[in-house]
Amino acid sequence: MSEAPLEPGQWIGILGGGQLGRMLAVAASRLGLNVHIYEPGANCPASDVAARTTTAPYDDGAALEAFARSVDVVTYEFENVPADALDAIEAIRPIRPGRRALATSQDRLTEKTFLQELGLATAPFAAVDSDADLEEAIARIGLPAILKTRTLGYDGKGQVRLSTGDDAATARAGLGGAPAILEGFVEFSAEVSVIGARATDGAVACFDPGENVHRDGILATTTVPARLSTAQRTDAILLAARIMTALDYVGVIGVELFVSPKGLIVNEFAPRVHNSGHWTQDGCLIDQFEQHIRAVAGWPLGDGSRHSNVVMENLIGDEVTRIRTLRAEPVSIHLYGKAQVKPGRKMGHVNRITGPAG
Ligand code: AMP
Repeated sequence: MSEAPLEPGQWIGILGGGQLGRMLAVAASRLGLNVHIYEPGANCPASDVAARTTTAPYDDGAALEAFARSVDVVTYEFENVPADALDAIEAIRPIRPGRRALATSQDRLTEKTFLQELGLATAPFAAVDSDADLEEAIARIGLPAILKTRTLGYDGKGQVRLSTGDDAATARAGLGGAPAILEGFVEFSAEVSVIGARATDGAVACFDPGENVHRDGILATTTVPARLSTAQRTDAILLAARIMTALDYVGVIGVELFVSPKGLIVNEFAPRVHNSGHWTQDGCLIDQFEQHIRAVAGWPLGDGSRHSNVVMENLIGDEVTRIRTLRAEPVSIHLYGKAQVKPGRKMGHVNRITGPAG
């Protein structure tokens, strides 16, 4: 594809067909762009709303090639796309955001090292590949701490908290002995996130930071405005911009931060639209999904300024049955079309407007 912006009728390929792919596909179709989803699982949430779906595994070279040839640019809704699949696609079409953002965020050690080299504050951390490494890391970082697998962790999975008196070797065995990272426990007063966007011409725009509450490691609610000082809000936005610029990023990013007495500490970033940005669907003229599609399509970014205060509430597992009462309330409902309810599964969310922006 040339650097020219996509025109209506052109195609965006999306790797992954979950709820994020679904909401990206809706945003793209509103802009007159067509979406082709690539997803190994059958009957995925995104296929209900996309113009085309390929159901094939990520190691099916022929399917990947046909997918890449059928679109003008490729993006993704999750960061753990296998590298070989990305190589096969990149030989044919551009992938946005680019490989550097993916490679950096796929591995917590690479990610934290990158953030530290940018001069951003992170929890103290150390690589752990053996019981001896873990003992050394605990001696240096102290307890409490969190041991996390370097790759493939999400929604609090692949991590274990270590306190004084715990048997460290058992905790490491609990993670299957996988390559890990030990992080010092951050005493935070709140968790916030910034959803940022960067266009192909380098222009950057960030949504107002949201304040996040997690339950059992899964995001439960996001509230805007976050309880931040003006200086903290500016810091949060500037650091998200710094990350995007350093990665020569194109698309939407989700940057998760801890608010601590020592200032803002970066936990991690996701190189994609993010659950903590769902409030933008009803709090802004242009939401995170449209902003991502605009960036990936080479369009200028839209105006994502916030017009309302919003509380976004996730519907996890059988909480989705609450829809029977919620649909009679003044909330905006977003369901993902998942037939099977499972504990911990994100089934939908609602956005409740709590007043004009303030
Ligand atoms: P993560 O998978 O890194 O997003 O972690 C999931 C959740 O665990 C975060 O949202 C925090 O609530 C908590 N957490 C992760 N890392 C730390 C840390 N270093 N200190 C304190 N809490 C943490």
